[in-house]
Amino acid sequence: MKSWKEIEFLPGAFESLRRLANTSYLIIVISNQSAINRGLVTSSTVDDIHSHMRKAIERHGGRIDGFFYCPHRPDERCDCRKPKPGLLLLAAQHFSLDLHQCYLVGDAATDLAAARAVGCHPILVLTGRGRESLPLVKNSQDNQTMVVDDISAAADWILSRRH
Ligand SMILES: [Zn+2]
Repeated sequence: MKSWKEIEFLPGAFESLRRLANTSYLIIVISNQSAINRGLVTSSTVDDIHSHMRKAIERHGGRIDGFFYCPHRPDERCDCRKPKPGLLLLAAQHFSLDLHQCYLVGDAATDLAAARAVGCHPILVLTGRGRESLPLVKNSQDNQTMVVDDISAAADWILSRRH
């Protein structure tokens, strides 16, 4: 992700975020942005992209309560680059969240591994890199991950589990 022009909202994304926004769930974006420490993009550009994303989502009735990202390269061996759960722990601390009551929707095996590491419910969407990630999930010891077609189905599942 190096510029706002590269961002593409998939079909159903705005509508799903709007439905989730109508609940008491906090909606948090957690990403690896190693382009920062590779010197390809500045953190202020990433912040600017996030600001554009937030506004576009808000125009469609949604909300984003927080963005957390890891700027490090893999060789820096930080604790926050997924599959490490550092950013989930940081978000949990920041918002006083019980991660066992949270869901993580992602398209990469590393997303799901981060979720599993801290007891957060993992959901794999088969959009983006999701189809490539599916064999990795199936081959791992992972029997916790919920696999769904897309973000709309992920939202359906989350909303169906609310009491
Ligand atoms: Zn990091």
